[in-house]
Amino acid sequence: MLKIKNYINGKLVAPASKKYLDVYEPAAGKVYAQAADSDHRDVQKAVAAAQKAFPKWAALSVEERYHYLIEIANLITNNLDSLAKAESRDNGKPVWLAKKVDIPRASANFRFFATAIMQYASEAHEMAGGTINYTLRQPLGVVGCISPWNLPLYLFSWKIAPALAAGNTVVAKPSEITPLTAYLLGEICTQAKLPPGVLNILHGYGHKVGAAITKHAQIKAISFTGSTRVGAEIARVAAPMFKKLSLELGGKNPNIIFSDCNYKKMLDTTLRSSFANQGQICLCGSRIFVERPLYNRFKKDFVKQAQALKVGNPKHKDTNIGAIVSEQHLEKILSYIELAKAEGGKILCGGARVKLSGKLANGYYVRPTIIEGLLYDCRTNQEEIFGPVVTIMPFDTTEEVLHFANSTPYGLSATVWTENLTRAHVVAKKLDAGIVWINTWLKRDLRTPFGGMKQSGVGREGGWEALRFFTEPKNVCVDYGS
Ligand code: NAD
Repeated sequence: MLKIKNYINGKLVAPASKKYLDVYEPAAGKVYAQAADSDHRDVQKAVAAAQKAFPKWAALSVEERYHYLIEIANLITNNLDSLAKAESRDNGKPVWLAKKVDIPRASANFRFFATAIMQYASEAHEMAGGTINYTLRQPLGVVGCISPWNLPLYLFSWKIAPALAAGNTVVAKPSEITPLTAYLLGEICTQAKLPPGVLNILHGYGHKVGAAITKHAQIKAISFTGSTRVGAEIARVAAPMFKKLSLELGGKNPNIIFSDCNYKKMLDTTLRSSFANQGQICLCGSRIFVERPLYNRFKKDFVKQAQALKVGNPKHKDTNIGAIVSEQHLEKILSYIELAKAEGGKILCGGARVKLSGKLANGYYVRPTIIEGLLYDCRTNQEEIFGPVVTIMPFDTTEEVLHFANSTPYGLSATVWTENLTRAHVVAKKLDAGIVWINTWLKRDLRTPFGGMKQSGVGREGGWEALRFFTEPKNVCVDYGS
């Protein structure tokens, strides 16, 4: 059975504990690999390697760092098929989706930040009387990157690439539920001849190795994507240590549909924004508010199209919905469907586990589920479910829907469908969300600020925001007056 070891100082090494965790293939519900059960001793080794590598890596020219990162991007692209299959096996998502979205995006992340660092400039401020201030933006040192299971290599690389581009060395941890492509990234770094210690990848539980990364005194910043609960725990530990923190957390995103929308585009996109990646994208719109005159038409068409989605083998090209990532997460989703029923919700379609046959009989599958009849402020509409489950609700006025949309503790993203330009701008401005899509969903320009407000996080990733996060600004004031 495949043993997923740590990647420390350029080498694959066994964890100090000599123990391994089971890694499941969600499509079949069976163990297919084992990942290192790392702890503070492995973090210690990784930090020592990263500290040793830091001065040389930070002193490289941006062109030299660019070449390493571009080489990694190219190797990811060259291994598109095998990485997509690995991602699908580990996570349960359809292979075609990993091939179209996850792996190309991981490559794009390295490519984007390789080129961004070549354009990164700092400011100068001149004062009267012969004084100039200039800002140095220097790498922080060793930084920690911790990522979740829903978009494994995509989100892992979204943190690592800017950290490395800016001249930091990294200790990174993927989710213990989906460690495979992070492990393969270690092999790619070896092929790219990335100097030892520049990137170190540790596997294992969050409460052990993740917590040890967070509290290590020599780790200067933590970039974390995951649940709000764990984000709060990381902030509790790291904030009093004065570490820089970037927290990308949970969401409960509204999808607001006005009657004057482009109906076909809205319907096709809403199907994706509800159920893509089994609804396990932090940006999925799980609360769908529909202006009353359109409600019945939308409900009929949306349910019909959701029922037509094929839940099945992630390896098949015609599968729309693959497996849920783990048995534990499947149970969580099913428990929320029961909660919705108890709160008075009516299940319009789905609502149950799907049993496939043969080798996939024990896999974790849920049919796309649409629920109506719930109030905007019930638990089902306030708590993150993170699965192929959405609620639909009618609304009458713009003020009312803004109140519904902004009622949760979260503020990650929102989608608005309208052809009325004035309304689009007014609603976008008033929504509590870090990202607002008008008449589209999940269109991402990597230069834009990415992140959430309220309990969806602190800080922004993407473009200059990420490079600013991973550097320390230092003002130098020079008086050259006589
Ligand atoms: P999670 O918070 O359980 O785990 C995320 C990572 O943190 C994992 O690597 C885990 O091992 C680690 N971890 C757990 N406990 C830790 C601790 N005490 N100290 C340090 N690290 C620890 O999240 P998950 O279940 O893997 O992912 C799903 C969540 O991620 C959802 O809430 C989803 O909304 C969120 N998410 C947010 C974004 C975003 O950009 N805002 C993107 C994707 C996913």
